[in-house]
Amino acid sequence: MAEETIVPGQVVQLSGLVRRVTAPNPGVMTGPGTNAYLVGTGDIALIDPGPESERHLSVMLEAAAGRLKWILCTHTHLDHSPGAKALKAATGAELLGFGSVPDDGRQDKGFTPDRVLRDGDVVDCGDFRLRSVHTPGHASNHLCYLLEGERWLFTGDHVMQGSTVVISPPDGDMIAYLHSLEKLLALDLAALAPGHGRVIDKPHDEVRRLVSHRLKREKKVVDAFSKKNPATTDELLPLVYDDVPQAIHAVARRSLHAHLLKLKGDGRVSLEGEVWSLAK
Ligand SMILES: [Zn+2]
Repeated sequence: MAEETIVPGQVVQLSGLVRRVTAPNPGVMTGPGTNAYLVGTGDIALIDPGPESERHLSVMLEAAAGRLKWILCTHTHLDHSPGAKALKAATGAELLGFGSVPDDGRQDKGFTPDRVLRDGDVVDCGDFRLRSVHTPGHASNHLCYLLEGERWLFTGDHVMQGSTVVISPPDGDMIAYLHSLEKLLALDLAALAPGHGRVIDKPHDEVRRLVSHRLKREKKVVDAFSKKNPATTDELLPLVYDDVPQAIHAVARRSLHAHLLKLKGDGRVSLEGEVWSLAK
């Protein structure tokens, strides 16, 4: 989908029903910034209010023009849900999300939804409906939201455009992540609207590409053992991520750990103390 560079603070009309405004938090992990989506032409639902930011709050309030009724969060990482509090206080909108917030130091501990959503729950917004799809992997409490009819899926950090989703154990889980990607293949989808980056068309092609990217990386993990076996995570890191800049190795290390735990779950590697071995 041809689209220009994302500019934080700009309200962009993406379809008849959907607008996007990006928070002013660009970075290595957030790309151009965290996307908030406004859905609806009458009453409005907003997905992912983003980090606490007065600037972002005022843009969202102006775009919603007094018609905000629902605030939905995909998950409770600090770049997605903390803005909900002020937005709810300013509008009285109902706050919805998965609810249980993991205790791993990366979460918005103050997140308390008015309505807890589980897999398959439908939020009836009058002119349109949003269905939650539980997609653990990046975060155990991650929900995507399917805009029925238009078949747009708001993917939060389950699928990003322009950057790779980081899987950080213990809350991040590579086995769950791959299952949650496969889950999207069973949905009839026209577009993916990610938490970071631009709208993605050909959703199933993209999801298949992501699955194959992860499995290729997994193969590199297995192959690294031919150079060093047994090995620690730090010894494997430069072998597995020789194609990515050193600057992001600290982040890549978390995904490597997730891959190793998946391989352990699959019975292909074992762990003793800090040392991994390839199973014979
Ligand atoms: Zn994010």
